[in-house]
Formats: sequence, C-alpha cells, structure tokens
Amino acid sequence: MAGKPYIIALEEHYLDAEVKQHYTGSDARQAPRVAERLEDVGQGRIADMDAAGIDLQVLSHANPGLQKMDGDTAIRLARAANDRLYETVRAHPDRFAAFAAIPTPAPAAAADELERAVTQLGFKGALVNGLTNGLFLDDKRFWPIFERAAALDVPLYLHPAIPHPAVVEAYYKDYVDKFPSLLRAAWGFTVETATQGVRLVLSGVFDAYPNLKIIIGHFGEGLPFLLWRVNMGFERDRQGSKSFRDAFCEHFYVTTSGFFSDAALLHCMMEMGIDRIMFSVDYPFVDNAPGAEWTKTLPLSPEDKEKLLNGNARRLLKL
Ligand code: MN
Repeated sequence: MAGKPYIIALEEHYLDAEVKQHYTGSDARQAPRVAERLEDVGQGRIADMDAAGIDLQVLSHANPGLQKMDGDTAIRLARAANDRLYETVRAHPDRFAAFAAIPTPAPAAAADELERAVTQLGFKGALVNGLTNGLFLDDKRFWPIFERAAALDVPLYLHPAIPHPAVVEAYYKDYVDKFPSLLRAAWGFTVETATQGVRLVLSGVFDAYPNLKIIIGHFGEGLPFLLWRVNMGFERDRQGSKSFRDAFCEHFYVTTSGFFSDAALLHCMMEMGIDRIMFSVDYPFVDNAPGAEWTKTLPLSPEDKEKLLNGNARRLLKL
C-alpha cells in the first residue's frame, strides 16, 4: 500500500503456557477467542497484524504477569518465560520486540532479570501488571527496579490488573456479577493504574532517578485529562522542587492502547505534547482492525502522525 506509515504497537500481549498454569480465580478466565490469540505468537498473530497493517508488536505478558506469586516462583518463571519470549522474537525479529516480565515479588532479582533481559536478550524494558501482592510499586522495596531501569535507560510500562481485593469489596462488588468489566477496562483498571502513577510521583522516585521513564497505556489512564486539577491540588502540599505537572510530563509517556479517540488524543497533545504519545492496540483484548482504521483518520500533521505511529517508540525503545 503506497504511503502506508510504518506502525509500531507496544502494548500487545501474549500468554506464556507455563506462567498461565499459576493463574487462579478470575485471572485464569479469558474469553475463548482472546485466550486462543493470546497463546499464538506465530503465524496467526502475524496474519492478523498484516491484515491491519501493523508492522511491529512489542510483546508483553498479559496481566497479572508474575506480580501475584511468591518470589522464588516468580524468579524461576521470569527466566523461563523471558527466554521463551526471546525465541519468539528471534523467530520474527522484523515483526516482534519484547518487554520483559520481571519478578517484582523479589525486587532485587527483578532488577537483575531486567538487566539480563535488556543486555542479553535485547528486550526494550519491562511491563509490570498492577500491584505486587497488594503493594503499590512506589514502596521503597521496589526502588532497586527503578534504579536499574534508569541506569539501563529503558522504560517501565505500568499495566493494569484486577484491583486490590479490599477495593473490589468496598467499591465494586455489588455490580461485578452483572458488569465484570467494572473491574477491568471499563473502570477498575483505570483507577488503580492512575493511582499507581500518582503515588509514584509523590514518592520522590523521579528525584532519586532523574532518568527514569514510565509508560502508561490507555491514554495515561485519565491522568492527562485530570492533570490541571491534580497539579493544582498538589501545589497546596508542595514539598519538592518540581510540580506534579512537571514530574508527570518529564517522566511519563502514554499510549493509545484500547482508546481510539480523537478527543482523547488532542487532549493529551495539549497537556503533554505529541512526543510523549505512542500508538498501541492492546491486542488481543482489543482487535487490531479498529486501531489500524483509526490511524487513517488521525487529526494530525504528517510529521506528528509519524511520531505517534513509530518515531516516538523508535526513540524511546531504541528500535
Ligand atoms: Mn493491555
């Protein structure tokens, strides 16, 4: 197709067969059509990418990843799953790249696995799903991971997972049976991941590691839309040298995963600038086709469109 831009999508998921065996409860349940596509990292996936015109997927493990396991299990599975993901990428290096799964229940080992994945397997960073056994990532125990990511100059992708059980109990449970998406894409994912982002800024981790780069999907889980008000609120409590707005806009990137809205895109551009926004689909939870169709009508100049569809990702992930 003449003039088709090169398209990189970077919140694209798969499921490792061994990791899957450790999932329980609602984490173990997927719609059959999604489950089938999660486990296909070969011809079916590539055919789906071809049909939509997506050139490169940066693969990451579907939620909840390794975040709800004991440390030893998570360490063992991380190595095995990342080694298998390496083989997946090696089989199709022009179609796939990878974010590592890291064993956050054992933070020092997670930092080491991140380094191994980046320096030995050629991975582009890591993706972490939700809370780690109930803890937000701003907890100081996890700072070795941020220190290593900053030293390696790779981003960490903060991805949602089903919210904390106490939150489900207090906020959501009376609607969950009828509307299971309340815990997921419709609302729960957003609230928890946005909270993760806010807490990270408040923790001071960006003062400690000025080179730290965070990616959040789904157009920043609402934070760009709320940025003016969040910033105003935290100015009342200002402690450090940097405003919430400055910390957020200097350290965070957002993607379009599962959120193909012109209004949301324009809002994010106004708050963060086009250089911080990258295209993603959220395959296979979201289909490639509507995302790819949207790229044909983006309200962007040709230069900004290139940045969104590939340029920003190339720069951040050193592709
Ligand atoms: Mn996702």
